[in-house]
Amino acid sequence: MDKLIHGLAADATVRVMAAITTDTVREAVRRHQTSPTASVALGRVLTGTLLLGSSLKDFDRLTVKIESNGSVEGIVAETIGNGKVRGYIKNPLADLPQNADGSFDVRGIISDGMFVVIRESGFELGLHREPYIGSVPIKSGEIAEDFADYLLKSEQIPSAVLLGVLLQPEEPFVACAGGVMIQMLPTADPNIAVMIEDTILHAPSVTAAIKEGASAEDLLKMMLGIIDYEILGEKEVKFECNCSQERAVQLIASLGKTEVAAMLEEDHGATMTCGFCSTVYTLDENDLRKILESETI
Ligand code: ZN
Repeated sequence: MDKLIHGLAADATVRVMAAITTDTVREAVRRHQTSPTASVALGRVLTGTLLLGSSLKDFDRLTVKIESNGSVEGIVAETIGNGKVRGYIKNPLADLPQNADGSFDVRGIISDGMFVVIRESGFELGLHREPYIGSVPIKSGEIAEDFADYLLKSEQIPSAVLLGVLLQPEEPFVACAGGVMIQMLPTADPNIAVMIEDTILHAPSVTAAIKEGASAEDLLKMMLGIIDYEILGEKEVKFECNCSQERAVQLIASLGKTEVAAMLEEDHGATMTCGFCSTVYTLDENDLRKILESETI
């Protein structure tokens, strides 16, 4: 079971969050049939989005978009207060040979572009407050650094972000995944930042630790060293989309009478694939007739 925790450290001057996202990333990779490099990229974005959204309330929604000029074309992840996350990569087959050190060339498939964060609250209550949108040019393309760069430049929060996705040759191709995010609040002592940086530098990689059985809290301990912390919340996380047959019908209906009639006459049905989760919805002739007969169209 994947887990996300968040808390405070160093006398509440540092915000900390950590997550194990192995099953979440496995599900994303299974649904989108991503290439190895695209799997790592998508897994990092999903994990980073969960970490960034760790303290979301019910009815809050956080979207992270990578608008890329590289072969990946774009990555989108969206999480809501209950720990559910969904996401996709525009070109799931984007891939490159591994780097000399065996790592995946995520930077190579992302290239340059924009890193965009959208925060919304009250989205399902009809309280449509203006969303907060922040964006920065992609700095590294390795994703963890891009989350940190976004936090620093757009939200003025110096932070450390570690995101890891480890692949294996056999199914399930994702061996493990997870991450840690440490955000310095304005009251943080600069020495604490130096200590944390040094601890992270000497700690094993996130994926090496998770492979050995580390929990989200173990990851946090590993990156904080001797700095005291307090966990304020924890939740289960998973890849889950909110699409449904009903929503698919609504979407087809929204195309209008002429379009639906044409689908009935020419195609004798309609199929729709959800971009976020790759679920395919099929509407047969009867479904289309029902739409045409309904009063709402
Ligand atoms: Zn879906």
